[in-house]
Parts: sequence; structure tokens; C-alpha cells
Amino acid sequence: MKNKTALITGSTSGIGLGIANAFAKAGAHIVLNGFGEAAQIEALRAQMAADYGVTVRYHGADMSKPSEIAAMVAFAGDVDILVNNAGIQHVSPVETFPLEKWDAIIAINLSSVFHTTRAVLPMMKNKKWGRIINIASAHGLVASPFKSAYVAAKHGVVGFTKSCALETAELGITVNTICPGYVLTPLVEKQIDDQAKVHGIARENVVRDVILAPQPTKQFVSIEQVASMAVYLASDNAAGMTGTAVSMDGGWTAR
Ligand code: NAD
Repeated sequence: MKNKTALITGSTSGIGLGIANAFAKAGAHIVLNGFGEAAQIEALRAQMAADYGVTVRYHGADMSKPSEIAAMVAFAGDVDILVNNAGIQHVSPVETFPLEKWDAIIAINLSSVFHTTRAVLPMMKNKKWGRIINIASAHGLVASPFKSAYVAAKHGVVGFTKSCALETAELGITVNTICPGYVLTPLVEKQIDDQAKVHGIARENVVRDVILAPQPTKQFVSIEQVASMAVYLASDNAAGMTGTAVSMDGGWTAR
């Protein structure tokens, strides 16, 4: 990954941060994005640069705002690897799903993937090399109740990935999706609380009986496992993979 620049959205926490660390370790220069406390983000940025001897920059664009996304891509410059990872969740029955949550999930989890992709593709086409890796979910392939916006957005990401892969197939660019099962990150910590409310059961029972119920291994997928798949998809060995949704879900979608 030496001399390559990787832009990872939503990389101040969880899976995105793990992916940023893995690309930095592999020698790529990094552009971080995401929310958080300024001093904490600066500490993350400086630590990553020191640990791996690469350039690490940060842009705080809000992925629900197309103009901020355009500014972030301009700031990043020559992007070789784009990882669309930023995402949020909200758990609610359809009929009471808050309208602003629906709009935010579609904007951040789906539309931002379109906005970043359209902005980086001209650069990738010029170089005849590029890697776009979209972090969808097992919920990009199958559904669960109470997650209508998330499931709709993630299915959309899988479909968008296929279209982009076909448009770029002869240009040295690959576009793939990773579909993780449950990974223990702040996003899932919040869902454990939300599901406890919806089902009216204790938090500790939610992990085994609700969260990991569809995941046959009964183990969380790790951040490192997802990150190593992202690094593989960006490698030359993965040049023959495009338009694919790679499942990493402890057997969830095998049922
Ligand atoms: P997380 O909450 O730990 O991290 C989300 C990141 O996105 C953070 O850096 C946050 O600041 C950023 N973000 C949120 N809204 C943003 C916005 N409007 N603009 C810019 N950045 C924003 O979550 P995570 O679990 O690491 O999830 C990362 C991705 O992986 C998401 O797309 C999620 O849907 C997907 N995913 C997660 C799991 C899981 O079990 N954790 C499983 C499958 C897929």
C-alpha cells in the first residue's frame, strides 16, 4: 500500500478506525473522517502517524451533507482507496419510525456512498487503478424486524456496489462490499440497549438471545477480521474480485 492514499469515512471509532489502522500498518497514507471530541481525534491521528510512519490527516465532513463530502474529497486529494464505512442505526417498528431517523440513515448509510464514489471515480479512472470498499452488513443481504431504514440502506449499498463495479470493470478499479455480522463496537453497544427496550428484557440476555441469535458461531466478528478483509480487497491479489458482497457473519446468511 506504499504511496497509496486511503480515505476511510467514519474512522474515528469502531470498524472504520480498525480499517484505518490496518491500512496505515500496510503503509498507506490515511485520511480519517468521523465525529468525536477534537482533542481525542487529534490524539488518534498523531498516534497512528507515529506508530506507522505514514501521513495521517483528518476531515470532519458530515456524511449526511453532500457539500461537506465534496469538500472532504477535495481535501483528501488523490484518493487511491475509498472505504465507505460511516453508518448509524435506529431500531423502531415501521409505523413509528421517526421520519428524521429514516432520512438520516438513508443519507449517511446509502447516499454518502454515492457522493464519495462519484467524487473519487474521475481520479481513479485517470490512474486506471482504484479500490472502493463499501461496508454494508449481513443486513445488506437479509432482514431483521425493526431495522427497516438500515436494511433498506444496506441492501441499497450492495446494489450500488454492483452497478459501480460493472461501470468500472475494464478500468483497473474494483468495487466490493463487505457484509459483516455483529461486531462489538459502540454502534452495537447502543443496539443492545435499544433492543432491551423493544423486547423488554435484560441487557445481558439481549447479547445471546437477540443480538447473536442469528449468528450461528455465537461469537462477535472482530474489527481486525473485517479490517484484514478490507486490506485484502485493496491488494493486487484481489484484482479479480469486483461487484462482490463478501460475507463475514459467523454463518448468519448460510441459513
Ligand atoms: P461506530 O458507531 O463505532 O462508528 C461509526 C463511525 O461513523 C464513527 O466514526 C462516527 O463518528 C461516524 N459517523 C457517524 N455518523 C457520521 C456522519 N454523519 N458523518 C461522518 N461520520 C459519521 O460503528 P461501527 O459498528 O464501527 O460501524 C461502522 C460501519 O459498519 C457502519 O456502516 C455499520 O453499519 C457497519 N456494520 C457494523 C456492524 C457491527 O456489528 N458493528 C455490523 C455490520 C455492519
